[in-house]
Amino acid sequence: MLTVNEIFYSIQGESTFAGRPCVFVRLTACDLRCVWCDTPYAFSEGRKMEVGDVLDEVARFGCPLVEITGGEPLLQDDVYPLMERLLADGRTVLLETGGHVSLSRVPGAVVKIMDVKCPGSGESAENHWDNINRLTSRDQVKFVLRDRADYEFARETVGRFALDRRCAAVLFSPVHGELEPRQLAAWMLEDRLPARLQLQLHKYIWDASTRGV
Ligand code: SF4
Repeated sequence: MLTVNEIFYSIQGESTFAGRPCVFVRLTACDLRCVWCDTPYAFSEGRKMEVGDVLDEVARFGCPLVEITGGEPLLQDDVYPLMERLLADGRTVLLETGGHVSLSRVPGAVVKIMDVKCPGSGESAENHWDNINRLTSRDQVKFVLRDRADYEFARETVGRFALDRRCAAVLFSPVHGELEPRQLAAWMLEDRLPARLQLQLHKYIWDASTRGV
């Protein structure tokens, strides 16, 4: 059984899959409280669903790309059979995770998009650093940045773990409405950073507060 906040079909707004049609399965609950979190409604709102019912609802959209997100999706045990069965159905499965829960049980074929929490999130003490050793060349690491201090933390972390050589992409995403993309771009260009500036596409296509997109 899973507690599901929402299942919807939209344009993928993040990662190297940005721009592609995608089905999103947003699971309920998170044990972090990032100050810039844009999905607090997923902390507690949700309905109970069997894994099979989630699969049926996903299948209705006829889309080969599916993202499991939250909240923190790895807090629910049945997320593992859900990912296995989506893969068995032939779908490409993306997992958006906050990076504080072990990735050890995530199926190898899942594309992990893992946050490293910066100081400005208020949750950087919760980073589960061992997870970096579980990332492969199919996976992606995301830093959400509020300010220069976050940028310097992220830059140092990329260098320390050689994340650009370990993963498919290192994503630097400014907090919408707080850090100007132009400012972040200038810093990245100045440092010749092996990272990708990421804007949350869905917040430009639709209003930043629109749910279910
Ligand atoms: S980990 Fe994700 S869902 Fe949880 S508080 Fe942080 S941004 Fe929100």
